[in-house]
Amino acid sequence: MTKRTSTRQQDLFADDPEPWEQDAAALKCVATIVLSEGPDAEFDYEAPAVFRDADRPERLLEVGRRVRVPFGRGNREAVGYCVAIETKPATGRALKAVAAVLDEQSLVSPAMMRLTRWMADYYLCPWGQVLDAVVPAGVRGRAGTREVKLLSLPDDVRQQLRRVDALPLSSPQQRKALETLAATRRPMTAAQLAQRAGCTTGPIRKLLKQGLLEERTERVDTGETVDDVPLRESGLALNADQRSALEQIVAALDAREARGMLLHGVTGSGKTEVYLQAIEHSVGFGRQAIVLVPEISLTPQTVRRFRARFDRIAVLHSRLTDVERQRHWRRIAAGEVQVVVGARSAVFAPTPHLGLIVIDEEHEASFKQDSAPRYHARDVAWRRAQAEGVPLVLGSATPALESWQRARTGEFALLELPRRVLDRPMPEVSIVDLREGAESRFASGAISRRLHQAMHAALRDGGQVILLLNRRGFSTHLQCPACGYVAKCEHCDLSLTFHRQEHVVLCHYCDFEQAPPEFCPDCKGGAIRYGGLGTQKLEAEIRARFPNYACARMDTDSMRGRTSHEDVLEKFRRGELRILLGTQMIAKGLDFPGVTLVGVVNADTALHLADFRAAERTFQLVAQVAGRTGRGERGGRVLVQTLSPDHPAITAAARHDYDAFAAAAIVERRAMGYPPYGSMARMVVRGASEIAARESAEHLGERLRSAAAGDETIRILGPGPAPIPRLRGEHRFHLQLQAPRVEQLQAIIRTATATFAQPKEVRWIADVDPWDML
Ligand code: ADP
Ligand code: ZN
Repeated sequence: MTKRTSTRQQDLFADDPEPWEQDAAALKCVATIVLSEGPDAEFDYEAPAVFRDADRPERLLEVGRRVRVPFGRGNREAVGYCVAIETKPATGRALKAVAAVLDEQSLVSPAMMRLTRWMADYYLCPWGQVLDAVVPAGVRGRAGTREVKLLSLPDDVRQQLRRVDALPLSSPQQRKALETLAATRRPMTAAQLAQRAGCTTGPIRKLLKQGLLEERTERVDTGETVDDVPLRESGLALNADQRSALEQIVAALDAREARGMLLHGVTGSGKTEVYLQAIEHSVGFGRQAIVLVPEISLTPQTVRRFRARFDRIAVLHSRLTDVERQRHWRRIAAGEVQVVVGARSAVFAPTPHLGLIVIDEEHEASFKQDSAPRYHARDVAWRRAQAEGVPLVLGSATPALESWQRARTGEFALLELPRRVLDRPMPEVSIVDLREGAESRFASGAISRRLHQAMHAALRDGGQVILLLNRRGFSTHLQCPACGYVAKCEHCDLSLTFHRQEHVVLCHYCDFEQAPPEFCPDCKGGAIRYGGLGTQKLEAEIRARFPNYACARMDTDSMRGRTSHEDVLEKFRRGELRILLGTQMIAKGLDFPGVTLVGVVNADTALHLADFRAAERTFQLVAQVAGRTGRGERGGRVLVQTLSPDHPAITAAARHDYDAFAAAAIVERRAMGYPPYGSMARMVVRGASEIAARESAEHLGERLRSAAAGDETIRILGPGPAPIPRLRGEHRFHLQLQAPRVEQLQAIIRTATATFAQPKEVRWIADVDPWDML
């Protein structure tokens, strides 16, 4: 591992030692501390004997615990992590001493220490900040837990239960209780079991006394109930493609090998079933699995599938309270959990014996964090897999080109599921040309004649319809026809969107809102014209066109409640809703056999953004939403409305032809030196004063260029105004850096920023492997 910053002695501030002090050569216990907030360096402190007393483990100083230390000239109190501890000969120089040990156990394992150190180096982020991101805030306290007694079935009893008279049971209630427990996946309390089995707790207490039930004590979150215990489910019989993919994963598991594998399977090809059986194999050895899914896929549907297969799982999503999060974390760290299912940050789950990491929908942008540390969970997962010697499985119907390239070059194994399960055909996709003159347009409105007819037919035949429009709000464009004025956010250089339900105009970046303007504030002339299509307007149009069919909208505005997402999906599943329309929220992961038609209302929304991944994202979105239909026996079809009917991203998505799309896109990437050919970093400089921000950006540009001097392979573009030049009241300038190897970029950014002084009100960020180019 490269040494990022030389270890700085905290006694930089102390006086030089007197000669006689150096003679006092004795061994000293030295703890290396990294601060949560403060200079990005490692500091040595003395570890006093009180924190090395083995009889007081609750205040033992060890790697991974947090400490309080005096820092700087004024000895202000600072909190940091102990990252190393070592006994060495005293140098004679006085070290300050650790003041307190804050944790009763280590929060960061040695393996996780190395991983976070790598992240700090790679993503150019202070190590202390990475550590704070890896250890959830809730873990640093432990309030709100209580103990409960949970009942479960011993294995021998479970087996004997199948034979009629094998067990000494004195009443039918006893048998009912045992069978109820056998049919579920999770242990429960006596009261819960009694309720489910329809008896009192008497027969259950007797079973306990007879040793036919096991009881253990667990800490649970206060207020948490052990409900929603799904029925047991066993694995499906795999088809030949699934079997072959599973065999390769199992081979890597058995070899305890860090092998990267890309599971490229079309939508509905049964990827999840392959993950489940691979995890079962790994769990069979007493090892844990981590499954990363995009936040929006953490639906009850996904979670239920995992719960039905594994006894002990932890689901980590963003709506957990601190208490819930820390409870999961401790169960995971204690080895009590078999499978961790979660969004991006679950990659840091403290599993003691990791066996396998799976990333589903690995192409999703949500695996990249957009605040420091700006890590990509896929790359962190691969690093972790290599360090712990476990396989990494990346699954997608539309892999990121970065992953595709790794599979093409043989760095990762390629496992393919080219067909849907049960020989179901891929849905037929037709492109509807929306350009002027094309006859398919239906008077006014968002729905073409062809899409209207297809919806009508699908609904009449009892099918369900999904409509994708990746824009929130009602009108996305407010303009004065007299003078051309466009309503923009006061704080951002972005158009405001009219939200009819809330009757406001809203900035989608900073949430600034105001009353909708009726007349042009500039020329005071004409009435403002409301144009552009958002999901609210689409909903109004659909209700008017199809008044007899229940319809619901899913976007961040309609999904504010904690369970609104689940409620709508549940109604759709039961067929109470016939039309579901919404933003990309509805495009992914849903598996509803009743959906016979998918309509993409406007495939072009992301196609022309100033982002080298615009075409890739468009392909992925169209291919993913198309995959939501044809999952049942009735088949399904897809209509894609577009103004760019010949764009390769759209025509390839219509043919379900990932290979053709990737082959064309990768040629373009190579020509431009974009990832996966070469690496990229982005720096953004921002401030309230446009002049100060620009000057700083220029100064930074000069420093980067002088750091790169002599290396012709490094390209530095900018600084120039960012595609969104003003955001939340700050002016933004950016620089784009490209080089064949990421280390070249990291090195010049480190050099350029080491002593870079900018005015106080100007801030900068570095983003290695950026996803957000705006
Ligand atoms: P993907 O993750 O590739 O979109 P899923 O794993 O969700 O696909 O599978 C789609 C559907 O097919 C699910 O309802 C699943 O239960 C079913 N399925 C998966 N594998 C099989 C199989 N071998 N035989 C029958 N049905 C299967
Ligand atoms: Zn704004």
